[in-house]
Amino acid sequence: MTPSRPAYQNLHLQPLAGQWRAGSAERSLTVTDPFNQQALLLIPLANRDDLDAAYRGARQVQAEWAVQAPAARSQVMLAAARIFDERREEIIDWIIRESGSTRIKAQIEWGAARAIILESASLPSRVHGRIVASNIPGKESRVYRKPLGVIGVISPWNFPLHLTARSLAPALALGNTVVVKPASDTPVTGGLLLARIFEEAGLPAGALNVVVGAGAEIGDAFVEHPVPAFISFTGSTQVGRNIGRIASGGEHLKHLALELGGNSPFVVLADADLEQAVNAAVVGKFLHQGQICMAVNRIIVEQPLLAAFTERFVERVKALPCGDPSLPGTVIGPVINERQLAGLQDKIATAQAEGAQLLTGGLAQGNVLPPHVFGNVTADMDIAHEEIFGPLVGIQAARDAEHALELANRSEYGLSSAVFTASLERGVQFAQRIQAGMTHINDIPVNDEPNAPFGGEKNSGLGRFNGDWAIEEFTTDHWITVQHRPRAYPF
Ligand code: NAD
Repeated sequence: MTPSRPAYQNLHLQPLAGQWRAGSAERSLTVTDPFNQQALLLIPLANRDDLDAAYRGARQVQAEWAVQAPAARSQVMLAAARIFDERREEIIDWIIRESGSTRIKAQIEWGAARAIILESASLPSRVHGRIVASNIPGKESRVYRKPLGVIGVISPWNFPLHLTARSLAPALALGNTVVVKPASDTPVTGGLLLARIFEEAGLPAGALNVVVGAGAEIGDAFVEHPVPAFISFTGSTQVGRNIGRIASGGEHLKHLALELGGNSPFVVLADADLEQAVNAAVVGKFLHQGQICMAVNRIIVEQPLLAAFTERFVERVKALPCGDPSLPGTVIGPVINERQLAGLQDKIATAQAEGAQLLTGGLAQGNVLPPHVFGNVTADMDIAHEEIFGPLVGIQAARDAEHALELANRSEYGLSSAVFTASLERGVQFAQRIQAGMTHINDIPVNDEPNAPFGGEKNSGLGRFNGDWAIEEFTTDHWITVQHRPRAYPF
């Protein structure tokens, strides 16, 4: 049993250029528990000057951090993973209270963030340069792989700890320094807690900055600022598009990774194991109230299994315990805030107005919306072609496997996907024709492993996270040649 430590204090302060201090804006942000509306923390917000200080501070220490031995950077990651173990309950408690996560989801998120930090410990020793052939007599042609410099990370509220960690840990391990802008609903788990952990792990002051500020005040400035060489954004397609425009069309061009929205199809072919498919659909849809970019967004069932699947699925969904997310048995906790709840209630009304049949539902209690399942859904309905990001789902009928594939691909998004079939080879052939960055055969679409490429196609984004792909993203090539003897120039 590892000893627990005194809980972190003063989480209203922000690490800016090596100092923990209050943001300088006039406004403050009240962080609230989405389940009981309890105020958890009052954070004085950062303004543009604070943002500028953070970026300049990050630049100032970057070169020094980058020349630390690979083993030294690994050690910081290993120490951070140890602190994750020692502070497991404190971290999980914050995830539950700040983002309305059920205990089950908070434990998964803690594990995912810890796993990417551990993977990051291996990255410093996995960076390889190259010597390439040269046609020029006497020339030695080298390719060095080096950090980009300062990385700006913008993360969403749904898996704040993990989605911030999966950018900042590899970025730091590879010799960059970082400025994080967490989502306003989750500044603690989306940044401030990680900064405390990495400080305790021995990361030099200034290498990790967290700027908690209003999007309207610091949003564009965060991307436009001349210091960051790379903006790693995870969030909605709408905001991501704007960030892409600013980062690639402004005065200072940036490297860019965009991990955006999804609309995962969950395809059940006629030869699938019904019970296995139903169990997966329930978890893949309702983990974290469906507020996951990879969550099942459309269930597509081949006609012969449709009735049996629907009956069994609805039966399981009706039995899901809803309510207080801190209780170990709760599966459906609150959605993140009232605005999100109102959007979901609109989606329910629209689905009914468009002719979808409500098979199970119920009224919201506070921000806890009971799971809703709709039958008779067609591809043109909003519930089929929009990202839902909540505990609602529609079931579509497919005439045959080809039709199922056509329906699966009928989306502007291409993040994750799943197909259930008894024939694994058929599953692989089907998977290869799905337009997505990730497809899981006989499993939920919600999968993220620290060594496997995570990312989407189409309007789900640009770039890949994790393992070797993180090395690609967070470092760049520098071609350096050495002319060993005088070159014979043509004039
Ligand atoms: P969002 O796009 O509203 O916000 C994401 C982040 O961007 C937040 O930190 C927000 O404060 C910030 N932001 C908003 N406007 C900004 C601006 N103009 N300039 C700079 N920053 C700005 O998304 P959200 O509601 O927090 O998260 C839900 C969305 O994120 C869903 O669409 C979901 O699919 C997507 N998501 C994608 C992934 C992935 O890996 N592909 C993972 C999780 C969530």
